[in-house]
Amino acid sequence: MERTSVADMVDNNGEWRWAAFQSYLPFNVLLWVAAKKCPIESDTRDMVGWYLREDLNFSVKSAYPTRIKDYSGSKEPVWGLIHKYRGLSKIKYFLWLVGKGRIMNNAERVRRHFSSVSNCTCCMASIEDIDHVLRSCPLAFTIWVDVIKREKLNEFMTMDIKSWLMYNLGDPGYFVHAVEHWDIMFGAIVWNIWLNRNVIAFETPVDDCRSVMDKNLHLKEATCVALAMRSSVQVVHQGIRVRPKR
Ligand SMILES: [Zn+2]
Repeated sequence: MERTSVADMVDNNGEWRWAAFQSYLPFNVLLWVAAKKCPIESDTRDMVGWYLREDLNFSVKSAYPTRIKDYSGSKEPVWGLIHKYRGLSKIKYFLWLVGKGRIMNNAERVRRHFSSVSNCTCCMASIEDIDHVLRSCPLAFTIWVDVIKREKLNEFMTMDIKSWLMYNLGDPGYFVHAVEHWDIMFGAIVWNIWLNRNVIAFETPVDDCRSVMDKNLHLKEATCVALAMRSSVQVVHQGIRVRPKR
């Protein structure tokens, strides 16, 4: 059939010209057409529209379910806690990758066939997976030993990663005594352990010679100051009264 429009398929009496198109369409579509009122020429011109919305306007939200057909969203509380993380966005994203098990450690590189070596570059342990990088590698462990309650250390080191994120972000008193801003501090520690690992793994020259713990404390303090400033700005905004023009 030549290039044509829906309006061309309607006769002068406002009825569908079945003979012109019924042999080209499957039966279920013909039933759908039969249930539709013919377009009236005076109403509007033919136009392209997005079929998934009533108003025919495209939106990413309406397209998303067509790309991920079995998507139903995750109900696991850990994702909500990561979403509410108060620190830097790049750390929030990193925590999300940790929860998904997708940070690019050597075990992950082997799994993706990028490499055949899964050893830890820092301590030469045979498998460098997420658990090793962020908890059991000596680079990480020496930091956790200093901040985690002694009686909880074994549980902290052996808990599955999602629960580990969940307790540290949502229940700070469970693992540490210094609970104030522990969620921010925890994110800073995890992030700096990862950066420190990358410095060693990629032999990156370092300008900042502070210890990992000093960097954690500095990052936590800077984040808390920024949060305090933001909340004070919001208070000022809420205090503004706008008078109508006369
Ligand atoms: Zn290691």
